Amino acid sequence: MLAASRGRTMAADRTMPFKASILTLYPDMFPGHLGLALAGRALERGDWAIESVQIREFAEDKHRSVDDTPSGGGAGMVLRPDVLARAVDSIADDGRPRLLMSPRGRPLTQERVRELAQGEGVVIVCGRFEGVDQRVIDARQLEEVSIGDYILSGGEPAALTLLDAVVRILPGVMGNQLSGVHESFEGGLLEHPQYTRPQIFEGREIPEVLTSGNHAAIEKWRHEQAVKLTGERRPDLLPDQPVRK
Ligand code: SAH
Repeated sequence: MLAASRGRTMAADRTMPFKASILTLYPDMFPGHLGLALAGRALERGDWAIESVQIREFAEDKHRSVDDTPSGGGAGMVLRPDVLARAVDSIADDGRPRLLMSPRGRPLTQERVRELAQGEGVVIVCGRFEGVDQRVIDARQLEEVSIGDYILSGGEPAALTLLDAVVRILPGVMGNQLSGVHESFEGGLLEHPQYTRPQIFEGREIPEVLTSGNHAAIEKWRHEQAVKLTGERRPDLLPDQPVRK
């Protein structure tokens, strides 16, 4: 059973800010871009918090090794389960979901992002090399999360991506709360196209309805565009699709 379904994500009583604890071999990669712009200002205000933990500090041999060659042979190195388990255990089990960024994980969705944002925070393990020994994933019940069907060199940019998506929807982070409502995926559809001034750009005009002032007509147009775009680009998102086996 996936950790997500074990009820680790409970609605937070917002006495404490959302807290992210990152286990990584590159703690300097955090908060990265999340220290800038809206997320950065929210971090400064204390609307959310982040700590990064150096996995190497939990290595006990004299070379401080965190990885070893894959059992059974093959290229690359694998993160050791004992070192990683000690790093995970250094973070008190306060009920936050424990995620492992992994291309083999369940693909991240806006729905899961919303669930995470409603919780008290996350603990995120960032893999490196060829990945992580399976036994620590099982023993610590890490929920594997993928950000897409491609391979990164490490879990850090994936963790930053997940956190970016979560932090921007935390209460108070995004200035204009409404802009979260109509976005791609929120209504199960891709978002309608957007326009702004100038009225004519290289001979192309803004669709007339958008400058008509008729709000009902604008809503209708936007919804139709969203349905059309979703049908063309992501028919898998449309409801009532026959389930393909
Ligand atoms: N050999 C592994 C890939 C290892 S990539 C495999 O084929 O499955 C090294 C690390 O980068 C992974 O442990 C993971 O933490 C991170 N990573 C790579 N691609 C990712 C993705 N699409 N989503 C989330 N994490 C990813």
